[in-house]
Amino acid sequence: MNNKKSTKNNYKIDSKKTTPNTDTLQPKTKSQLQTRVHELESKTRSLTELNRLHKRKIFDLYTIFEISRNFNTLLDYQQLLDTFIFTSLAQVGSMKAAFYLSSHSEDKNYSLIKFKGSGKPPSKNNYFKDGTKMLQNLAKINRPFKIDDLLSTTANENEKKLLQLFEHGLVVPLMYQAELSGLFIISDKLSSREFTDDDIEFLSILGNQISVAIENTWLFEAEKSATKQLRETQQQLVYSERLAALGEMSAKVAHEINNPLGIIKNYLHLTNKLLVENNNATEYLNIVDEEIDRIAKIVSELLDFHRPRGFEIQKIDVAKLTSSIVSLMSRQFEKNKVVITQKYDPNTPEIEISPESVKQVFLNLIINAYDAMPKGGQLEVSITPHKDDVSIQFSDTGPGIPPELIPRIFEPFFTTKDPAKGTGLGLSVCYGIIKKHNGSITFYNQEIGGCFEIRLPYKSKDMLHESNS
Ligand code: ADP
Repeated sequence: MNNKKSTKNNYKIDSKKTTPNTDTLQPKTKSQLQTRVHELESKTRSLTELNRLHKRKIFDLYTIFEISRNFNTLLDYQQLLDTFIFTSLAQVGSMKAAFYLSSHSEDKNYSLIKFKGSGKPPSKNNYFKDGTKMLQNLAKINRPFKIDDLLSTTANENEKKLLQLFEHGLVVPLMYQAELSGLFIISDKLSSREFTDDDIEFLSILGNQISVAIENTWLFEAEKSATKQLRETQQQLVYSERLAALGEMSAKVAHEINNPLGIIKNYLHLTNKLLVENNNATEYLNIVDEEIDRIAKIVSELLDFHRPRGFEIQKIDVAKLTSSIVSLMSRQFEKNKVVITQKYDPNTPEIEISPESVKQVFLNLIINAYDAMPKGGQLEVSITPHKDDVSIQFSDTGPGIPPELIPRIFEPFFTTKDPAKGTGLGLSVCYGIIKKHNGSITFYNQEIGGCFEIRLPYKSKDMLHESNS
């Protein structure tokens, strides 16, 4: 009984405990009710706003993700920089922007690589010098800085001059492997509003992405050019080896036929003396004599091909040497209405060469140009000094050379001339001589005519030493 009662009582107590007394929570008056409604309305508004901001943030992050992905697939350096600048200008709403990047050479100064936008572009001659206080600071803190803040703190006079072109904009340091690889500078907003935190965050994230993407394009370019260079070197090697083999063989052939030729020639002279009364025989013998001269010419050129004669190195004024050959030829040229002009840079230093061999090369090129202009024309000989070598160009107004034949012109016995006129050995001899000077000889067609360019290094120490046997 007792138990039953107590259970009932307990139940009553429990039920009171678990049912909240809502009276105390509910506003008792109308004004209290209204205040409560306002509070809830304002809370809902701020929650909606927060939700909107979050959605915006997700959208921004997605945009950044898409842009970054796009950057990482671009392997063209210029296209990558263009895309980055356009995207940043559009996203932030600025007028102009520029990239100052460190060159991949020894000095690490940061030069203007790309500028886009309105107004005069900054001068390419001015750049950010490596290691200044401002750059060290930017690299250390590694986040976008307002130009105004830099102007009033760490920027030196030169940096101020460069930064002021972008007014009240931002500077984004670009870092690669913990080193400053460049700066991205963007001018202030078209709307004249301050940069928002989102703008700064956007540029900061993209700045990190672009540094890696730029490095990728550099690596890609470097690999492309290394492959190209390798291919060219391989071709050159194959070509040189082929020429060397041909040269050796030619030298052997030359030795073999040179002696009997001399003997034949002597005996022909003797026979000629005996046949003075017979005119026909003399005429035929003269032809034989001419043909033997021709063979002798081939033989001598074959010998030169393998072993240029008189290879004695001297310090030479190449302009003097060239003009002496030109004047040697000028009379013959005038007769055939070929005008020779000479353009020599007076600052050309002397070069160490074998003058006799080089003369032979120049003469050969001048005669070839003359042969190429049977109805007259112009030959311009020019000399230009470069950092490590001198360029000597022979540019004519002849027909040039069909592109498909250019790779063959330095091969021995390649000729398009009448067999009585050309042996096809001239250019291969030239090639051998110039190679021995460790220089280069190339041909290219121009709008009118063709041009042979020879590059000769200043110093003979670069000379290739070959056996003289
Ligand atoms: P060759 O003069 O005996 O033919 P080369 O080796 O000197 O031998 O020249 C090879 C060929 O190169 C010539 O037959 C000619 O077809 C071409 N060539 C050389 N120089 C010129 C030139 N200046 N213009 C056009 N073709 C040229």
